[in-house]
Amino acid sequence: MNIADRFIKQNSLTKDEFIELILLAEQDSAVQQKLTEEAVRLRKKYYGADVYTRGLIEFTNYCKNNCYYCGIRKGNRNVKRYRLTKEEILECCERGYELGFRTFVLQGGEDPYFTDERLADIVRAIRSGYSECAITLSVGERSYESYRLLREAGADRYLLRHETANEELYENLHPKEMEFARRRQCLYDLKKLGYQVGAGFMVDSPGQKLWDLAEDLVFLKELDPHMVGIGPFIPHHDTRYAEEPAGSVERTVLLLTIIRILLPAALLPATTALGTLDAAGREKGLAAGANVVMPNLSPLKNRRQYELYDNKICTGEEAAESRADLAARVEKIGYRLVSGRGDAWSRDTIHTC
Ligand code: SAH
Repeated sequence: MNIADRFIKQNSLTKDEFIELILLAEQDSAVQQKLTEEAVRLRKKYYGADVYTRGLIEFTNYCKNNCYYCGIRKGNRNVKRYRLTKEEILECCERGYELGFRTFVLQGGEDPYFTDERLADIVRAIRSGYSECAITLSVGERSYESYRLLREAGADRYLLRHETANEELYENLHPKEMEFARRRQCLYDLKKLGYQVGAGFMVDSPGQKLWDLAEDLVFLKELDPHMVGIGPFIPHHDTRYAEEPAGSVERTVLLLTIIRILLPAALLPATTALGTLDAAGREKGLAAGANVVMPNLSPLKNRRQYELYDNKICTGEEAAESRADLAARVEKIGYRLVSGRGDAWSRDTIHTC
């Protein structure tokens, strides 16, 4: 039995075996095809033809961190900083709700202005206005107590990519104030508090080796998150990695396939970064096992300022346009964009298709 068959059978491998699997699939299109078929089968088993949507509200680009790859890192003086008011955030939700979004993702840099009190107040306002919607936060590392308060205020989910499961690579990508162990601890804290948790990493980040990706896969299996966000690394002109090559779309798509098999019931977004490097990137992601898309609900006037990497797509479109465009694209490849909270699969979920 080859390594791909064994992976399909047991949904898990060791680090060395993951390296072997990735190398084999990248060389042999028949192996990749077989993995894709299995990923699509599993995706259909758990989620039918449904593609879930989340409305992304990028509410602050202030950040106290200096992640070396990120365009909105603290040290970048060329960024025009903005933060949305509570009213502006609620307007985004209102527009999003009308368009059919039932999950709002509040993402931002680690902005000290948003104390627990201010953020909890915003979460409570969304919770009371939109009781049937899911509220997802993606605002980086905070204390257990802070996560607890935000959960109590009504947040359901939290996205915090682990970025890389290899400590050495983590230290190369981040300044020394940022601790590898702490980020992982945050993910365990969030799980303990009952959040639906999303982890994830960049593909082909500067210095990343196959070994690192294998570690990511082993870590994901151990953490068992509800969601896994992965996207290719894309250079930003105002960072030390400006001249580094962008990540591979093909490798990202293969990893989506592998993650679908690794964690069959996970929510897997076809990310904006994938769509930025390849006009058909998100469709390729969906066809490989992904089942979520996250269109931008941020106010048009601020979109270009939330520039994590160069040439980010959908910065000039109205939310309505981008949702309609995605709905058409998704239908073309045989799936359907659904309106609903789009929770992670659980034993109670029943699929009719
Ligand atoms: N402050 C939040 C949100 C970070 S931005 C947090 O710490 O979680 C969301 C994600 O964008 C990051 O987790 C990172 O994986 C990704 N990202 C940042 N810069 C990128 C780049 N240059 N290329 C691709 N993805 C990038």
